[in-house]
Amino acid sequence: MADVVVVGAGVGGLSAAVHLAARGLKVEVLEASDRPGGKLGIHVVDGVEVDTGPSVLTLPDTLDRALRAAGTSLEAELTLRAPEPAFRYLYPDGTALDVYPDPERTLASVEGTLGPEAAGELASFLAYAGRIWDAAAPHFVYGPTPSLGSLAGLGPGALASLLRIDPLRRMWGAIRGRVRSPHLRTLLARYATYNGSDVRRAPATLNCIAHVELSLGGYGVEGGMYGIARALERAAERLGVEFRYGTRVVRLTERSGGGWSVDTADGGVFLARAVVANADAAHVLGDLLPRSRGRPSTGDRSMSGWTGIVRARRRTGAEARVAHTVLFPERYLEEFADVFDRDRPPAEPTVYLCAQEACHGRAGWAEDEPVFVMANAPAEPAGGRRDPAVWEALRATVLRRLERAGLCAPGDELVWERTPGGLADAFPGSRGSIYGAASNSPFAAFRRPANRIPGARGVYLASGSAHPGGGVPLCILSGEAAARALLADLGLQAGGP
Ligand SMILES: Cc1cc2nc3c(=O)[nH]c(=O)nc-3n(C[C@H](O)[C@H](O)[C@H](O)COP(=O)(O)OP(=O)(O)OC[C@H]3O[C@@H](n4cnc5c(N)ncnc54)[C@H](O)[C@@H]3O)c2cc1C
Repeated sequence: MADVVVVGAGVGGLSAAVHLAARGLKVEVLEASDRPGGKLGIHVVDGVEVDTGPSVLTLPDTLDRALRAAGTSLEAELTLRAPEPAFRYLYPDGTALDVYPDPERTLASVEGTLGPEAAGELASFLAYAGRIWDAAAPHFVYGPTPSLGSLAGLGPGALASLLRIDPLRRMWGAIRGRVRSPHLRTLLARYATYNGSDVRRAPATLNCIAHVELSLGGYGVEGGMYGIARALERAAERLGVEFRYGTRVVRLTERSGGGWSVDTADGGVFLARAVVANADAAHVLGDLLPRSRGRPSTGDRSMSGWTGIVRARRRTGAEARVAHTVLFPERYLEEFADVFDRDRPPAEPTVYLCAQEACHGRAGWAEDEPVFVMANAPAEPAGGRRDPAVWEALRATVLRRLERAGLCAPGDELVWERTPGGLADAFPGSRGSIYGAASNSPFAAFRRPANRIPGARGVYLASGSAHPGGGVPLCILSGEAAARALLADLGLQAGGP
């Protein structure tokens, strides 16, 4: 019998495994796919490995915490990159705005491109976003699952500081109230998509994402983002964690004598004192655990996306691609209306590109470089699938927009693509949504499933669909939070920094 079985080797599962094994527990990880990483995935095209998931690493301290718990460090395992410029934003009026790793350089770029008033507005917005982050992060990101009760117990001083998180306004309302530059408004609104939410509905608290990326930094990873999964897996293996790939869990059953029985699709049975489920919360609660009343709701789905890899003729010198390019449409808010109100892919999507050689120093083909392309889209309908013609139309629109903007040329080839349906198949319960539940209400942080599951003592959630939410750093923290809860319940104090 293992102390803990972890279901899934996505970043949340890897992080939980590391934090638990670092406390001396015997941990086994059962993963349905043939490799670790989950949505932090790869694909190999003609001998070249490309990233198919995340392209920006924020809050690298979260990864460092996990690696340090395993006796190593981020610095020892990976090299972070801060390409310059980091992002190029292309607007329909022909404006091209570059953003840099150094916030001062970003402000100078904004001043040069949009004028001094816009630069002043961005500086003041970033100060506001920084105040939100400082007040929110300890309670909603780094701390255990928040509740209205736990916040009420903080005392008047802490409560006053919590009002700084601007919870009662909406993200878009706060942006409009603070920034007049239409170009900056669009740029700042896009941060809602960093957790798959609707800028018109999400609480203004999420404006802190601008601070996280523009002030604290968004990084590339030398050799590719997948290095994060490899580093965590390596650290876990050094601590004695055992990985079983190609092993799909089909049932979790509480044993009468204590502990859990974990059944796998190939007829295997694993016994453990506790289970950490890295799979999507809806899959855990709906498919793996026996159905019973009183389980938490898994909330509205966050956005999904159509993604592709273009094998593009390498550009060098002044023509070289920047790490990240964002091609905005004429009417940006229509994208949110299409995805969230009309439940359809955007008629005129924002197109995001990550040039993986520039961003991560990934090696491409002899004459071509891999360019990751993404357009936002709704999660798949509950219990159904969208007509494939919808994705054919979206793909055609994206490729046409890229050619018109000169970002791709005839001869560049789409060599891999994934629709939300493909994501839904790979990640059961997700319906293709990338970040678990959307934060489209002021109470979203309280509605997100906690790391402990009420009614299933000894089973813990560690993923983007549980506290504190989606995105690589938050999933790493979800693994840490689940490990802390489990250790506390076993009477072992949580370790780590
Ligand atoms: C296209 C795309 C772009 C993104 N961009 C960014 C970005 O730039 N920055 C960022 O920070 N984040 C980004 N993200 C989000 C980030 O990748 C995810 O939030 C994070 O990787 C999810 O990790 P997780 O811990 O929730 O596990 P998941 O990645 O969801 O993995 C869960 C694992 O559990 C396994 N599993 C599921 N069910 C079972 C079962 N029954 N038995 C066994 N195994 C099972 C799955 O195979 C999978 O390996 C992006 C994601 C995508 C898809």
